[in-house]
Amino acid sequence: MLIYTWLMLIFLLGLTVGSALNVLIYRLPLGKSVIWPSSRCGYCLTPIRWHDNLPILGYLLVLGRCRHCRQAISWRYPLVELLCGLGWAAGFVVEVMLNAQHFPIVTSLRVFIWDYGAVPLPLWAIVLSDGLAVTLLLLAFFCWWDRRPVPLPVVAVIWAIVVGLNVLFPWPAPNVPVEVILQSRTHPQVPLPGLQLASVWHPMPKNAIEGEPWVGLLGAVAGSCAGWCIFRLLRGIGGPLSLGEAALWIWAGALLGWQGVLLLWPIVMLLLAGWAWLMTPRGPLALFLGLSLPTLRYTWPHLGQSVYPWLVHGWGIGSCVGVALLATAAYALAVRRWGQPVPTLAEPSAILTHAAGRPDQCTGRYCRSGTADDGGTTDSASPPVDSASPPNQHAEQQNPQTETTGH
Ligand SMILES: [Zn+2]
Repeated sequence: MLIYTWLMLIFLLGLTVGSALNVLIYRLPLGKSVIWPSSRCGYCLTPIRWHDNLPILGYLLVLGRCRHCRQAISWRYPLVELLCGLGWAAGFVVEVMLNAQHFPIVTSLRVFIWDYGAVPLPLWAIVLSDGLAVTLLLLAFFCWWDRRPVPLPVVAVIWAIVVGLNVLFPWPAPNVPVEVILQSRTHPQVPLPGLQLASVWHPMPKNAIEGEPWVGLLGAVAGSCAGWCIFRLLRGIGGPLSLGEAALWIWAGALLGWQGVLLLWPIVMLLLAGWAWLMTPRGPLALFLGLSLPTLRYTWPHLGQSVYPWLVHGWGIGSCVGVALLATAAYALAVRRWGQPVPTLAEPSAILTHAAGRPDQCTGRYCRSGTADDGGTTDSASPPVDSASPPNQHAEQQNPQTETTGH
């Protein structure tokens, strides 16, 4: 029953990542340093003690108020930590304990995994990639909520990790029976589970043994290219999606392979277009991806068998692209209809220009106010450094309370 120990550890790891995520959410979109200064009360700038900075527990210890000035600390901090912890734990439960993707390796090693906690390395890679997916989507979602751009560097780093994991743990095509894969190898062994839904193409080119690193790399590159095409299109039609937000498609491509992205594209674009027509021009892309991506991934063992031949050999690709292009056109029209209500938030530079008007708000290296070059001068009795200063009117309506923030 050692597996429950792993589950607990993964949950704690997720909480810790969530704690770091809070810092990323508040600092990166404003171009601030992530490591300096240390976490402090957003109101009185008193550094937070390490035991008050523990995920969730710290918030409970101080009863949601700063020890020093008694200002309320935003409930968003424990919420993000809890969601991140639950997300990481859910990845472990679904992939390892429930084996939702029907990995042969989990079935054959069931006793070892459950009784001795001997989880094979490829499964850890999958748990890691799931956890990073949860982290990235939470980051993107809360940046959307705050009407801030999604920081591109985080998307790029997580994309690079996913590509690396794809090379280390390539995935055999889904409609190939395990026996065939076993026979195709010179040394029969249980095939490694990989990150992608499917490899580059099926049937594979001659001399390409599924499960080989370069096939995994090819799959990640093909998926990233498909995602990049969508990224370019979304950027080309204008609209309020920030660079990092649109780049989520490139990451999704590396994670799912080009087939998966092709299936997701029309669905997510229809949701985005609908949102743009009915609600606001900038839809919650992270939320739509967060709902559709796991659904596709975990139904793929059943869905893949029937969809794959249609997708590759039939009219599938054309239909997907056609519907997706129509939805993209509808989205572009909807954005035009709004005019350009939030163009200032499309790029980080816009926020920084905005922040530069208030020197006390800007300590980042991109600061144009002239105070940042000497390390920032925020230690005086200045207003909150990291407080959720609403970048525009939308945000002001969204967050009327001026809660202080602890990071
Ligand atoms: Zn305080």
